[in-house]
Amino acid sequence: MKRLIAGGTLLGCLVVAASCGGDPAVAPQDNTTRAVGDTPAATTSTTGASTATSSTVEAAVTTAAGSTTTTSSTTTTTTPPTTTITTTTTTTTATSTTTTIPPEPTLWERLQALGREGIGDALYPTLGASGYDVESYLIAFRFDPETGWLSGSSTIAAVATTDLDLFSLDFFGMETSSVIVNSVPADYEQVSEELIIAPSRTLGEGEPMTVSVSYEGVVASRPARAIQGLTSGGRWSTDEGTFFMMNEPDGSAALAPFNDHPLDKALVTVEVEVPEGWTAVSGGILEEVRQEKDTSVFRWSMQQPVAPYLIPLGIGKFASRPEPDPLGLEITTWYPEGLDLELIDPFTDQHRILGFLSELFGPYPFDTLGAMVVDAGLGLALEHQTLPTYDLSLVQEEVVVHELAHQWFGNSVSVSDWSDIWLNEGPATLSQWLWTEEILGVIDYDREVANHYRLFSGEFFLSGDTTEAIERATAMAARRFYPPGLPSADDLFNYSVYGRGALTLVALRDHLGDEPFFRMLRTWHDTHRYGNATTADLLSLVSETGGGPARDLVESWLYEPLPPAMPERDLYPLGHEENAQG
Ligand SMILES: [Zn+2]
Repeated sequence: MKRLIAGGTLLGCLVVAASCGGDPAVAPQDNTTRAVGDTPAATTSTTGASTATSSTVEAAVTTAAGSTTTTSSTTTTTTPPTTTITTTTTTTTATSTTTTIPPEPTLWERLQALGREGIGDALYPTLGASGYDVESYLIAFRFDPETGWLSGSSTIAAVATTDLDLFSLDFFGMETSSVIVNSVPADYEQVSEELIIAPSRTLGEGEPMTVSVSYEGVVASRPARAIQGLTSGGRWSTDEGTFFMMNEPDGSAALAPFNDHPLDKALVTVEVEVPEGWTAVSGGILEEVRQEKDTSVFRWSMQQPVAPYLIPLGIGKFASRPEPDPLGLEITTWYPEGLDLELIDPFTDQHRILGFLSELFGPYPFDTLGAMVVDAGLGLALEHQTLPTYDLSLVQEEVVVHELAHQWFGNSVSVSDWSDIWLNEGPATLSQWLWTEEILGVIDYDREVANHYRLFSGEFFLSGDTTEAIERATAMAARRFYPPGLPSADDLFNYSVYGRGALTLVALRDHLGDEPFFRMLRTWHDTHRYGNATTADLLSLVSETGGGPARDLVESWLYEPLPPAMPERDLYPLGHEENAQG
């Protein structure tokens, strides 16, 4: 993901300059100007009814002696309103024996008791699901752009990874009308952004299952969990009524039920029916365009597994043009009809960028490539697999480099846990600097590195040379930027995972030398292509390549509160004696 670069420059420091005198809690310094339509983040989700509620359970009990009595118990639970059980029968007799029947646990309570409500993510414990592994999704829906109404059905092919009598999919906002597992209707509940499903019989470990879910409604929007102050969660649109998705890490489940975590990647086919004149754009291959009576159906199919957050989708009045493709790929840019084509000039250079990145990291991992442009004034771009989505404000060459680098780092090799987000953003940001080095020369690369070092060390915030000023500036940097290996759940895209993540790799490149460094990155992609990896995996590879000292270096960059010194570049923490001398 890439967020708005104010003034069209990538120098984070320039953006910080505009806001560094303000409240340090205002915003992460992510080269970001806040997007249109932002709302303050709430502490709880506004959809999915996750608030605590009280349910009163009353049960009439007939005793063995034949007399009947009324018992009443009140329980306070964290289950949503949809799970409230109210059964009321009131009869009294003179003699009574009291027996309390515990309320039947809801599917949600049973799922929680099994510890199966998430895939085990350190930052977002309820995200994803466990107990099964998805192989493919077929997501088919009809969409009315006038009203935003969506009527759909998803067919999910999966394999049980344990004996499975209960499982969930991430899903929120729309109403489910039926769930069928292996051709038999299943019980289900929709609560807390989860669709919980109880098949009619327990599936054995290793058993395949086909889950069909029918649903309809309006794709929901809600405060983004991972970005303070941003509304996200599925529905994005432009003034012209273009609908699109930009949902890292957890909003795709507003469109369809998913095991919405990068750890469960799957093949995806998207089939969208829209009114005539509208176009539905997604990733992979456009397999079919079918004209119905007053509608058109677009069928797109991904040829490699994809994490749900990386599925592109745009529905609008799009035009398209092919781009130069000397590598033999189909490269297509989709843009709003009538757009001034000069505004999308940077895409004509994509094949050059792709050639450059392929030399560094190994062959481009997918069969197709394109770009989707939306004019939403959002200041966001997202590296959707095979078809990154760019707000018009971010159609800039350096952003194109960033999103293309993600096809290797993030898309082909995905994180196993969102706490490893720097594994996506560090290499993508480094790639921008490497492109700068390629195009403008090493002096510009060095300047990029030095500027970022000054930002993360606190030098950028320095307003004097007293001990107090140094302490203040250092503290400000530490407060604004967490160490990139230790992200926080409500600030996942803190600029640290980008800028300090990239500096981590610069330090490693300096330490190892170019040949071992880039060989290591190619090995990384070769080893984990189309799968997942962790920071621990990278640290092992760093050890293999450069031994203990290289590993120690990377660990200090990832986990220490402030960046370590870079003596070979004459860059030191504030207050360091080299600084004092110099
Ligand atoms: Zn990114």
